[in-house]
Amino acid sequence: MIHSTHTIFGIFLITIFYEVFPFLNHHIPFIYAAVIAAVAALVPDLDHPRGYLSRGNWAIISIAIRRTTEHRGWTHSLIGAVIFTVISIVIFWYFHAKLLYAFPFFVGYLSHLLSDSLNPTGVKWLWPFNERKLKSSIRTGSEGELIFHNLILFSEAGILALNIMYQGGSLFH
Ligand SMILES: [Zn+2]
Repeated sequence: MIHSTHTIFGIFLITIFYEVFPFLNHHIPFIYAAVIAAVAALVPDLDHPRGYLSRGNWAIISIAIRRTTEHRGWTHSLIGAVIFTVISIVIFWYFHAKLLYAFPFFVGYLSHLLSDSLNPTGVKWLWPFNERKLKSSIRTGSEGELIFHNLILFSEAGILALNIMYQGGSLFH
């Protein structure tokens, strides 16, 4: 999947969590959670030289990760999600930020694995315990991905509009 699909899907998934569990907003403002989930949704592709975060200042991290794995190796698994979430906790702790921010980070990371599971390369969710891949038929950059991308974008816009109209914009305060 291309990076904008990952970003939008990350925001979409955390929005669903906030709609289902409104109390989350008391602990982490929705806007913060959305930004964290959007960034986290880009992290797994640090294992790819053309990943959105694999260029510029982050290139050194990407190079280090690529020494440990091929594309869609451990970074694209539940273990990878846990490892990077623990790293995010250390970073939040270092910057005196709320450690709870790790929650939207984890959700954003999982959203990446979910959307990558929609294409034929698939995702080995349970690596290294199980090599089986969850996969489907939407190719990266294909018309199918564009449809998925737009579907999620319109759904997100719809949820936010309904929240503003019927729930007093509860997500935003
Ligand atoms: Zn990926």
